[in-house]
Amino acid sequence: MSSCIFCSIVAGDIPSKKIYEDEHTYAFFDISQVTKGHALVIPKHHHENLFDLPESELTSVYQSVQKVAHALKEAFSPAGLNLVNNNGQAAGQTVFHYHVHLIPRYDVTDGFGAKWEEHGSEYTEEKFEEMRVDVLKKLSN
Ligand code: 5GP
Ligand code: ZN
Repeated sequence: MSSCIFCSIVAGDIPSKKIYEDEHTYAFFDISQVTKGHALVIPKHHHENLFDLPESELTSVYQSVQKVAHALKEAFSPAGLNLVNNNGQAAGQTVFHYHVHLIPRYDVTDGFGAKWEEHGSEYTEEKFEEMRVDVLKKLSN
């Protein structure tokens, strides 16, 4: 059995509540069910996070994310849906096989919440411009 829990799920060595599968991706209910229908979409191949994921797999994963999102919407009639993707321990990643959480939303007390502090007032026009140049340099090759 693989040391990666999600590779073991894809291989069928660990049971899962599968809701979708195609050549490149696999989707199943998250065991924690933060809200009703909370699901995960993963690439079948092992890639740790967004930075490791080949572009072709990224495309396949997000095609499946949209398919599963439509199905969850039709099955459970949520009022909304959050996509969450944690990359790295500091970002809350606990399983190091790339995955996208689909979290159907019902109301503000449904069990999901993200802390979202505003710090925009701490950034001057000059600081924003400096940051923009830093990123542009990395994108211009
Ligand atoms: P992360 O914190 O890495 O973004 O999310 C990992 C998710 O995997 C968690 O929400 C956790 O509940 C889920 N998970 C971990 N182990 C299993 C498992 O064996 N089966 C299922 N269905 N979900 C799992
Ligand atoms: Zn894996």
